[in-house]
Amino acid sequence: MSSIIGNRIIKVNKLLVKQFGIPPRQKELPDSVDMIIATILSQNTNDKNSYKAFQNLKKKYKSWNELLKVRRTTIEKEIRVAGLGFQKSTAIKNFVKEIYLERDIISLSHIENMDNNSAILELTKYKGVGVKTASCVLLFAEGRNVCPVDTHVHRTVNRIGIVNTSTPDKTFAKLNKKFPLKIAHQFHTNFIRLGREVCTPQKPSCGVCPVKIECAFDDKNEFNSKMKKERKFMLLDSVNLEN
Ligand code: SF4
Repeated sequence: MSSIIGNRIIKVNKLLVKQFGIPPRQKELPDSVDMIIATILSQNTNDKNSYKAFQNLKKKYKSWNELLKVRRTTIEKEIRVAGLGFQKSTAIKNFVKEIYLERDIISLSHIENMDNNSAILELTKYKGVGVKTASCVLLFAEGRNVCPVDTHVHRTVNRIGIVNTSTPDKTFAKLNKKFPLKIAHQFHTNFIRLGREVCTPQKPSCGVCPVKIECAFDDKNEFNSKMKKERKFMLLDSVNLEN
């Protein structure tokens, strides 16, 4: 199974790299706690707004320990620009509280020596941290060869026919059973771009799609050749950046 999926991943990845190039990465990997908080903030909003919310928190609090004493409603005000303030502030507050109670420090250094599955299980035990958030920590903060699956990746890999699954978490499990070495970051990042700019939920632009030759989607929209220009900024590759 895995080698069939793996071979398709490699083929599609080559086509995407030919079109979009190899996405740049930050020289220094960000801290894992920063990454969890940034990923929580990134849910259901654009990268620019979640980055603003993340910067608001980083500027206001010298360390995440300060969030232990801050009311949830205060955090909600700081992150309002990212939307879903109640859910996101609750998840952030829960996360810092739970990890501090358990470890006496707000740090994820204990997952460094865990294998990928154990690390995902460990991270998802915190309320508000799902498989996508946990896998973003492994890819972006730990530099592991893990491909997170959001709605864009889920939709496009299913349309292409690399997997046939009903939820992003099931797609994640299938894709990552044995992900081809060293290409998870470029595959993930280029798929986000493909999903935002070309293979959009409604009316995909199949007329200009770089992976059309590999795509098994029955409802291809061959006459749409408009590529959206949405790749201004990728939050999770920018967590270390200062304003
Ligand atoms: S050919 Fe169309 S449906 Fe297939 S991946 Fe490209 S845009 Fe999406």
